[in-house]
Amino acid sequence: MVKVFITGATGFIAQHIIKLLLEHGHQVVGSVRSQRKGEALLSRIPRQYAGQFKYEVVPELASPDAFDATLQRHRDIRFLFHTASPCTFDTVHHEQELIIPAVNGTRNIFEAAHKYCPHLKRIVITSSDSAIFSNVDERNNKLFFNEQSWNSMKYEDALGDSVSAYYMSKVLAEKSAWDFIATRKPVFDLVAVNPSYVYGPQAFECDPENLNVTSAMIGNLLKCKYQIEIGGYIDVRDIAKAHLFAMERDEARGRRLFMTNGYFSTQMMLDFINQHFPQLNLPKGNVGSGERDVSVLARVDNSATKQLLGWQFGSLETAVVDTVQQILDSRK
Ligand code: NAP
Repeated sequence: MVKVFITGATGFIAQHIIKLLLEHGHQVVGSVRSQRKGEALLSRIPRQYAGQFKYEVVPELASPDAFDATLQRHRDIRFLFHTASPCTFDTVHHEQELIIPAVNGTRNIFEAAHKYCPHLKRIVITSSDSAIFSNVDERNNKLFFNEQSWNSMKYEDALGDSVSAYYMSKVLAEKSAWDFIATRKPVFDLVAVNPSYVYGPQAFECDPENLNVTSAMIGNLLKCKYQIEIGGYIDVRDIAKAHLFAMERDEARGRRLFMTNGYFSTQMMLDFINQHFPQLNLPKGNVGSGERDVSVLARVDNSATKQLLGWQFGSLETAVVDTVQQILDSRK
């Protein structure tokens, strides 16, 4: 059993990581933004693990020295997961709301870990495929990306809309993490996990009115709000397993795990929902046109990641069906 710290503990991905860590018998401390959110999370943790989980309140990850006081109370942590970052496309001041918190938050947690955690072996940062390609390059099927690729968008091109600013926030945050390792030579090393769009059920209870941005895409289909979205997909349960692998395995050291299992379009999701839940009588959209939607997307090769991890990733169909079933169950 080891003690592990995780930032953004209330998040969709973080809760899955926490669940796995608890199941593996680890002691987990998670940062949350308020006591109310911490208590709500604690109440969702299954009773048998209650003694293994604690929360710490860190209201704003980008505030100066945001994590210093907290990590001084947890000098004995062995691993740290940095998942917290604004993950929304609903912003007005894109630079202030997305880029600055992502970058300053990453710097803050690395600085605090370096100052106060002498036994820390590794940080696993939840980066994104947005650190691998820009939102423009992602939709250019003449381009090709793998674990070595970096989003090369220009800063000034990222400020005009929330999607571009989000992509910029992730590439700059991940670069600042690798730069910290290279220049400051801390006692800990680093692994980055780079997921494409993450889908699947919530780890604990599901509140269908308060879903994270990707789960809300499926929730919106159930509310007949249909908008074509395309990209790569990965099941959240594979993401959590990849974080645990990144923590536990020596061979993960210094790697970027590019977590993607093919393409999705919201039409594909709608087709799966209509096949599995015909009783919902949802609109059909343009049945079967999903493959055409995704034909514009850049080609990717994450075979190095797949080979390293060694398991088969979950399908889009399973992620969508499990998400919908959980939302329906939560309404009963
Ligand atoms: P999420 O559910 O929105 O979780 C984000 C977490 O970060 C929440 O705990 C949130 O706290 C916290 N947070 C955000 N801004 C903060 C701030 N300024 N100060 C303190 N805490 C802050 O999203 P998620 O899907 O789990 O994403 C987790 C990580 O995975 C993010 O780094 C995201 O960029 C990355 N990622 C996600 C996807 C995806 O498809 N979901 C894909 C690739 C990468 P509150 O809950 O209190 O707001």
